[in-house]
Amino acid sequence: MERIRSLYLHVPFCTWVCKYCDFNAYAVLEGLIPPYVDALSHEIEVAGAELPIGPLETVFIGGGTPSLLTSAQVRQVLERVRAIGLAPGAEVTLEANPSNVTAENVAGWLDAGVNRLSIGVQSLQPDALRFLERLHSGTDAIAAIRTARSGGFANVSADLLFGVPGVSLAAWLETLESVLAEGVQHLSAYELTVESGTRLGQEVRTGLVKMPGDDDQLEQYWAAAARLEAAGYPHYEISNWSRPGFACRHNLAAWNYQPYLGAGAGAHSMFRLDDGSTERRWNVKGPHAYIKRASDRGRALDGSETLSPERARGEAAMIGVRLLDGTDAADGFPAERAQLVGAGLLAEHDGRVRLWQCQAAT
Ligand code: SF4
Repeated sequence: MERIRSLYLHVPFCTWVCKYCDFNAYAVLEGLIPPYVDALSHEIEVAGAELPIGPLETVFIGGGTPSLLTSAQVRQVLERVRAIGLAPGAEVTLEANPSNVTAENVAGWLDAGVNRLSIGVQSLQPDALRFLERLHSGTDAIAAIRTARSGGFANVSADLLFGVPGVSLAAWLETLESVLAEGVQHLSAYELTVESGTRLGQEVRTGLVKMPGDDDQLEQYWAAAARLEAAGYPHYEISNWSRPGFACRHNLAAWNYQPYLGAGAGAHSMFRLDDGSTERRWNVKGPHAYIKRASDRGRALDGSETLSPERARGEAAMIGVRLLDGTDAADGFPAERAQLVGAGLLAEHDGRVRLWQCQAAT
């Protein structure tokens, strides 16, 4: 098995489950976080003993809302990670809700070993935040970026959502401009998508909410892409832009089909086996079941599948085309590659291929 250099840790708790959310997230249950952190620490410890893992180049603590953990709990988890081995200069990201980004937490997270903060801004428009059921205000979000930067984070990312009903192109660009003015190093802009199992999905089905049309969504996307490029944030993946040198190394590893371990409730792992096949594993989703299994056995596996070498190469190609640098993984499928390029769905770039969207953005 290829050595694993990336670790994803899932924290499935949120203060409130937003109506559009399709992640493995649960409204926080009093008292559940401490045993969860213990279970997660145990799972990391057991994985470290059983798998060819480390030194780790990237660690990503995502959710959910990992910033609900106290800095002592973040430290507890990262101490287990350090026992596996962290490479010098490893990227250690924590996702944070603006309301949790206080000066005290910032100092605690930095001290625990976090060096990249990804802040869920989503929007600065009051109507949009209300619609999305986010609990913070635009002022809170800007204050969070300022607190993170002044508190010592040299690598801050902001997540934004476009295509929110009722938000005009001008209002969307106003949010983008205000976030850029704060000097973040990285920015992700995601289209608000309607997932069928969510409350938003139900509201759209029953006609209570009307989503913007594809043309409007695309207009917001292209306008953001142009503005970000002009502001010195090269586009490197469909939904991601960064200052040079600040692309998210953790996500880049996954998009380049590097193996990773996922720990925590519902977390997925991807391992590359010596014969060229890929093994995917996933943990049990519910936090109660996860805590029980990971505490008892140090493992909480719920299922796995193995992809043949050919399917693994196909998957690498499918994932790699979302990068602006493209991928050579599609070279193993010359007929399909030529057909998709001929149809204008893939574009050639320095002998590699990428999605036409990426071509159009440059
Ligand atoms: S805060 Fe994020 S993870 Fe939690 S419910 Fe809202 S969208 Fe989902």
